[in-house]
Amino acid sequence: MKKNDLVNLEIIDTTLQGAGVGKIDGLTVFVDSAVTGDIVVAHILKVKSNCAFAKIHEIIMPSNDRIENNCKSFPQCGGCSFRHIDYKKELLIKELNVKNNLKRIGTVEPELEPIVGLTEQGYRNKAQYPVAFDNGQLKIGFFAGHSHRVVDCDECQLQPAEFSEAVLKFKEFILENNISVYNEAEHKGLVRHIYFRKANVTGEIMVCLCLNGKELPNQAEFIRRMQSVFGENLKSAVLNFNLDKTNVIMGQECKTIYGDGFITDILCGVKVRISPLSFYQVNHDMAEKLYKKAAEYAEPNGKTVLDLYCGAGTIGLSMANSAKKIIGVEIIPEAIEDAKHNAELNSFTNVDFICGDAANTAKDFNENNIKPDVVIVDPPRKGCEIELIRTIAEDFKPDRVVYVSCDPSTLARDCKVFKELNYKTVKAATFDMFPRTRHVETIVCLCKQ
Ligand code: SAH
Repeated sequence: MKKNDLVNLEIIDTTLQGAGVGKIDGLTVFVDSAVTGDIVVAHILKVKSNCAFAKIHEIIMPSNDRIENNCKSFPQCGGCSFRHIDYKKELLIKELNVKNNLKRIGTVEPELEPIVGLTEQGYRNKAQYPVAFDNGQLKIGFFAGHSHRVVDCDECQLQPAEFSEAVLKFKEFILENNISVYNEAEHKGLVRHIYFRKANVTGEIMVCLCLNGKELPNQAEFIRRMQSVFGENLKSAVLNFNLDKTNVIMGQECKTIYGDGFITDILCGVKVRISPLSFYQVNHDMAEKLYKKAAEYAEPNGKTVLDLYCGAGTIGLSMANSAKKIIGVEIIPEAIEDAKHNAELNSFTNVDFICGDAANTAKDFNENNIKPDVVIVDPPRKGCEIELIRTIAEDFKPDRVVYVSCDPSTLARDCKVFKELNYKTVKAATFDMFPRTRHVETIVCLCKQ
């Protein structure tokens, strides 16, 4: 087999990237935008020693799980993986992926609860759109997969419709006011990203502009245009300064130009203040289901709960009514400010929030003889530091550890480490926090043996 060959292929599996998997002479071929059950003529794009990559030349027989894509930015935009696949099938693919990761990488086989899926439309409460000029045209949308080319996306179906409307208004504002737009290669131009956040329950909206500079010309006009879309719900407009030559979207410094600089939502009955730099779960309704499961696994009643990687404190706060004490640890200072504010907002007096690295802070706790009864971890994709797992399993030795993860492979890797330290992965539940995309959220309950 070589580049540009056309080969007949039966698709026998589907990856989280939404690629079909076929086999030719024992070699695995990944076919873009295919799905299990398709029979296709594949156009081979690249052959490596252990696999090959292809695109569909022709579909000979479509899979029963294939559906008509209804987004004009798919697959170029790189956000969704599954728009050509029925949502029920997507859920099964994700569920199986989690199971396989836990088994193959983690060498654990917990009781796996059926995956939970909700709506596939408009579920996100946050969008960060890169802004760029491409071939003389203003583009606001998303980065194409594996690149920094901005693809226009006027109607992203994962976002609330009003975000798309606001993007169009922002385009007009830029063009009519001759505002310069960031050019990554030259590190010149002002506007890098526009970023919206919506509090689902209260409806409050925050708009944040990430700038390669410190001032926005015609600021008042910008606010008026945003108000014309969001009306009274616009509670906050913020400038974020990011003057570095970096891929990171947000800089460290923010300036509020309208409202309070934050919005307030309600999650699991708890009022939460959210600032531009704080992490907040992007899918509100699914987050509530996830947190409920976290409480079920943690059994926090009357216990001291350590909530590591706590963001604005939301998981711990959702258990503060029943727990004896909640201690949250998080590395971003603004998120810890929000967490402390949220504790006050809800009149919780049994919570403490500490700004610091999870692994180091846990070590300090141990040295100071602070021992939680239950530990919850919710790390970023790269998972937990091995030192942290050691501190938890060898020093704290809680009966239960609850691990919330947005990457099944690093979760599985960490479950294996816990297993070696006598913690059994007893149960796992999967939540489709990010329908149509390759991402999936998993929570596991680890018990001391
Ligand atoms: N549990 C929260 C946030 C989870 S996202 C929620 O459900 O909303 C992961 C969080 O880990 C982010 O807020 C991130 O800022 C934080 N984080 C990343 N690295 C960290 C580290 N080394 N120590 C502590 N927190 C960290």
